[in-house]
Amino acid sequence: MRACVVGAGPGGIVSAKVLLENGFDVTVLDKFQQVGGTWSAGGCYDGLANQASRRLFEFADLPNRLHFAGAVDTQRYLENYAETFGVLDRVRPGTEVVSIRPVEGPGRPGASGWWIESRPTGEGTADVRRERYDYVVVASGAHHHARLPELPGRAAFHGTVLHSNEVRAGTFAGRRVVVVGGGKSALDLVTRAAGEATSATLVQRKVNWMVPERLLFGLVGYKWILFTRFGEALLPRYHDPACVRPVDRIDDRVKRALWWVITRDMLFSAGFYRLPKQLRPDRALPFHLAHAGVMPRGYVRAVRRGLIAPKVGALEAYTDQGLRLATGEEVAADVIVFATGHHKVFPFLDPGVTVHDSAGRLRLHRGIVPPGADRLGFIGFRQVFNNIMGVELSAHWLTRHFRATLRTTPSEQEMEEAIDARLAWQERVLPGSGGYDFGPYDIHCADELLHDMGLPSRRVGNLLAEYLLPAGVAHRYAGLTRSDSTGRQVY
Ligand SMILES: Cc1cc2nc3c(=O)[nH]c(=O)nc-3n(C[C@H](O)[C@H](O)[C@H](O)COP(=O)(O)OP(=O)(O)OC[C@H]3O[C@@H](n4cnc5c(N)ncnc54)[C@H](O)[C@@H]3O)c2cc1C
Repeated sequence: MRACVVGAGPGGIVSAKVLLENGFDVTVLDKFQQVGGTWSAGGCYDGLANQASRRLFEFADLPNRLHFAGAVDTQRYLENYAETFGVLDRVRPGTEVVSIRPVEGPGRPGASGWWIESRPTGEGTADVRRERYDYVVVASGAHHHARLPELPGRAAFHGTVLHSNEVRAGTFAGRRVVVVGGGKSALDLVTRAAGEATSATLVQRKVNWMVPERLLFGLVGYKWILFTRFGEALLPRYHDPACVRPVDRIDDRVKRALWWVITRDMLFSAGFYRLPKQLRPDRALPFHLAHAGVMPRGYVRAVRRGLIAPKVGALEAYTDQGLRLATGEEVAADVIVFATGHHKVFPFLDPGVTVHDSAGRLRLHRGIVPPGADRLGFIGFRQVFNNIMGVELSAHWLTRHFRATLRTTPSEQEMEEAIDARLAWQERVLPGSGGYDFGPYDIHCADELLHDMGLPSRRVGNLLAEYLLPAGVAHRYAGLTRSDSTGRQVY
């Protein structure tokens, strides 16, 4: 059983590990020179730091004690993981996948396997290498293909225009910087510009929620509230009835009252209360939590000291000096950085395999497999807050799907119906999530995959610990596989 994993980021290396344990002959192809994806050299903007506190950014079988670590240390953890579990030897770095096509044969696309075409990164004229695999895992990253808004007047502006992924050491020094966007990357970059640039301006259409490192007026780390089963029970009910527990049936009035308290705490603990009203999020929690990152250190202070000039409003056009806002205000810039997100696209994938709907939302069953194709799965496109834990559980689910050992295998029509129902729920409770972002539903998402795998979702014996200790953490899911008498991993 030959399997190809496209991408050696966290999703790719954990998929490779689980597939190897289950007897697959695995090859991992990545266009970068290092494993680690977003966290590898050049994988994201310079200065990227992890938003995860201790024991959050880790896989079940290898503890990670780093606390809000930098990208270099995070990459080292991932490389160590790949080496420890025999994945590193399977990685072909500097190899870009340019096409994935089904091998022709009876049945649905992929039933007879897949052709993968690849070539050395950046060598557009190099010969393409064609290989046949029985299974393919696409782990090419949800944050890989830059999304920039189309604005009129680009030719008039002679300064530098970058996507956030392209910011490197020295990009800001001595220049007037405008950062466009309202998410974690935008706030990170404008905070950095405040210390390095001649001027730093932030233009955001709306102010997003940011999670503070510590909640309850700075007393407890966010994972003790947001990553517990009790905390998740305060969210609107999860779409899959198989994952709804009695605690999820808390009366909506009680939920609303508790969110009122959490909202005040978030405003206070994240520092929003110290900012002018127009720089505070104006939408009710928990909706839009999916778009929240962890509030970067220094952002609030830099705004208060006047080192960041924040503007809230839409963009209209480039000018010869920078940007014009819809209000008519002009902002001067030498460098414009668009921290405006990423397209979830797969330019190498056979056009006959449908993975998006007409609105551009991903249509994957469980956020992992396309209903119309066989022996093909996507890892990293069922995003939760603790994405690392999420990709590990998804890798287990996909491996069992490939081995046809899930509790049930729904038909194509049943998958389509399940996707429709889930997308309708996402639109309601996580607006703008693009069909891939499950935001704060870490534990419910885990429950759903475990339920499909026929594994217990209850991970600890003590009921209080089950509900009140952080559960959206990988070490709760250690030991999902074990060795049988032949040394083969079984569930
Ligand atoms: C600004 C920012 C901050 C973030 N902060 C956090 C955080 O604090 N904590 C957290 O858990 N997550 C964070 N994330 C999410 C982050 O993406 C995940 O941590 C994780 O890296 C996702 O892993 P992945 O394997 O799915 O994708 P990636 O890490 O993106 O890896 C994808 C890999 O696929 C490769 N690839 C793509 N196309 C091809 C191709 N055609 N051929 C060959 N290889 C290809 C890429 O080179 C890359 O190595 C952040 C993301 C961003 C953008």
